[in-house]
Amino acid sequence: MNPRLTPLKAIRWNCLDCMSSSSPDVKECDLYDCSLWEYRLGSRPTKEMIEKVKDEGMHKGKGYAEPAEPIYTVEETERMRKMGERLRDSQKRGIA
Ligand code: SF4
Repeated sequence: MNPRLTPLKAIRWNCLDCMSSSSPDVKECDLYDCSLWEYRLGSRPTKEMIEKVKDEGMHKGKGYAEPAEPIYTVEETERMRKMGERLRDSQKRGIA
C-alpha cells in the first residue's frame, strides 16, 4: 500500500476493489451493514449520512442487510463435528 494514502483514500481504494473498480457501483453500494459504507466515496461523511447510519441502526444488522440465518441446526452441527472426529480418527489409524 502507498504509505502516503490517507485513511479515507485507503477506504476508497478498498471499495473500488470491492466493486471491481466501478465507481458508480461504489456510489450505489447498498450494503449498509458494511462498516465502511459512509466512507466509501473517499470523503468525510456528511452530517446527514452519519444521522442516517445512527437512525437506521446500520452496521448492527438493523439496516438494509438482515442478519444471516444459521445454515445448520445445532443438531446438524454436532452431527458433522462427530463425523469429522471419526474421520480424523480413521486417518490417524491409516484406515481412511
Ligand atoms: S462500503 Fe460497499 S463498496 Fe465499500 S467495502 Fe463495503 S460493501 Fe464494498
